[in-house]
Amino acid sequence: MLEAIEILKQLKTKGVRFTPQRQAILEFLLETKSHPTADEIYQHVKAKFPGVSLGTIYNTLNMLKEHGHLLELSYGDMSSRFDGNPRNHYHIVCSKCGMVVDYHSPLIDMDQEVMDNSGFLIMGHRMEFYGVCPDCLKDEKLN
Ligand SMILES: [Zn+2]
Ligand SMILES: [Zn+2]
Repeated sequence: MLEAIEILKQLKTKGVRFTPQRQAILEFLLETKSHPTADEIYQHVKAKFPGVSLGTIYNTLNMLKEHGHLLELSYGDMSSRFDGNPRNHYHIVCSKCGMVVDYHSPLIDMDQEVMDNSGFLIMGHRMEFYGVCPDCLKDEKLN
């Protein structure tokens, strides 16, 4: 995975300007494993930069996504979650608390098969596991 400083350098050559707020958003996304929502990112960055707006958060997320430095995980009606690791990988979602964790496993090699059978140009695929996380399981047993 790229470091913030390398991403900043790459984007600078593409003419993208980085304010300290934008940099803080990027750094948070790279360091957290929590797959935060835009609002969680906002709360985190606001602690350091009280003047930051939710609009800046969304602008920055869109810009990072456009340049391929961010994955957006959308869940229908629920808020999207954001992942600073843009390479395709799998996720496990807790249906009790909504926690999303990475599951590192070699990617299933089906894109070519789907392309051959469907006529679609396949650009990628998404797979998710649903369940109850260890913390929620513990709570269930206590109650
Ligand atoms: Zn849970
Ligand atoms: Zn992830």
